[in-house]
Amino acid sequence: MGLVKRAKLFVFLREKRHEIFEESFQEELSEIYRESRLGRPPVEPARLALATVLQAYTGVSDDEAMEAMVMDRRWQLVLDCLGEDEPPFSKWSLVNFRKRLIEHDLDRRLIERTVKVAKQRGGFSNRRLRAALDSSPLWGAGRVEDTYNLLGHALRKALGVIASRQGRGLAEVAEEAGAGMLAGSSLKTALDLDWDDPDQRAVALSRVLGALEAVEEYLQSGGLSESAEVSPNIETARRVREQDVEEGTDGSPALRRGVARERQISVEDPKMRHGRKSRSVRFDGYKRHVLKDLDSGLVRAVGITRANAPEAMVTEAISRDLRSQGARLSELHIDRAYLSSELVRERTEDLGVYCKAWAVTNAGRYPKTAFELDWDRGRIRCPAGAETDFEVGGVVRFPRKTCAACPLRERCTKSKSGGRSVSIHPDERLLRELRERQRTPEGRAKLRERVDVEHSLAHIGHWQGDRARYIGERKNLFDLRRSAVVHNLHVIARMPGEGRDAIAA
Ligand code: SF4
Repeated sequence: MGLVKRAKLFVFLREKRHEIFEESFQEELSEIYRESRLGRPPVEPARLALATVLQAYTGVSDDEAMEAMVMDRRWQLVLDCLGEDEPPFSKWSLVNFRKRLIEHDLDRRLIERTVKVAKQRGGFSNRRLRAALDSSPLWGAGRVEDTYNLLGHALRKALGVIASRQGRGLAEVAEEAGAGMLAGSSLKTALDLDWDDPDQRAVALSRVLGALEAVEEYLQSGGLSESAEVSPNIETARRVREQDVEEGTDGSPALRRGVARERQISVEDPKMRHGRKSRSVRFDGYKRHVLKDLDSGLVRAVGITRANAPEAMVTEAISRDLRSQGARLSELHIDRAYLSSELVRERTEDLGVYCKAWAVTNAGRYPKTAFELDWDRGRIRCPAGAETDFEVGGVVRFPRKTCAACPLRERCTKSKSGGRSVSIHPDERLLRELRERQRTPEGRAKLRERVDVEHSLAHIGHWQGDRARYIGERKNLFDLRRSAVVHNLHVIARMPGEGRDAIAA
């Protein structure tokens, strides 16, 4: 059944590839080869782009894609090489195309192209984009290691470069550097200590830090510390020492208590970070963000951030992508994590923000929602009718004397000597609007519209997977963008005029 469903996207791409990769878009794709020796692509760029999209759809590696071009009729149909014994292009061409797409930010244009094709078919306009934004975890591709192994891994990589340059074995070079513990594949086996014993763990840390110093001296004396291949690994080891090690109470090195803010957790992928799905569930890597058009169902923009980055950090990039589509948001459906984003802070008057507001409580006393704000006069009125000025982003303090004489005092403040204070959020007007709105059935129905983007996130996660294919933010953004293209192709295929069962998702 899965194969039949899959086959339908292949058929759709086979039939519509000239529409999706029309001539002007092909020329644009060809531009990425302008500065190359030949000044033109080695292969028709649409074919390379189609193979790139099919890779996302089928989740295959570059080698498997090469094999599919010869062995799989469906790939051959889409790439127009039916019955050929050789792939239509080399693996190098595919890898090089991907690299150039990323360098020229043309993976973003692939999404834009699907939006344009959908627009031509569906006739929707950019004037009123109602969108929902949400994120999900993307576990990193790099191995997450503890401090000992991070240090050992980075040092082993540094010495490995020297060993391969000199045509020697790693063990020999490690011994020569005075860091024999780095010779084997497992640092912990080489240390051969009781890892349950805190004293022995402290000994291990001192020995690994000693190995770092020995390697630094070895590189210095051999004039190798500035080598472009070696120094990044030494820098990584130093960074790990800086972030994870502190001075213990007896002056000896000890593992830092708590986690450093930007803690590097992987040698292979230095951009990965610890993140949280919830208070109790942690993940390591990145977050993928998806902005979905609630009317057309298309994914209009996507973003990748490190797992520890606040959600709000992604919206500048998302706004940029929307601007390049000429799209203008009229509704934005988000969860509270995005409330501090520039999309919300710098919104225009005509943008409606839909988000569940924080519950406001005050330990049984009047919450701040019991205080009325007169925005025109900049005045705040308390439940007893006392008024004073307020400033957005400031804290209002009602006069001590007024509160001292107030019959409602017990229900309002626990301060014995001072007056009641109320903080006014920088976006207090929006927060009040959100609270007002969710009191009505219509408002609550509007809030439920955001759920739609969760379905698309799951859809995209199905193709991209929960674990990143690539190292680093940019390559994973590329992978997310091409997964969004696959999602959008499904949406287009289900549009009127494509037949009811064009593609089952
Ligand atoms: S305690 Fe002060 S702020 Fe509270 S209701 Fe009385 S006068 Fe108003």
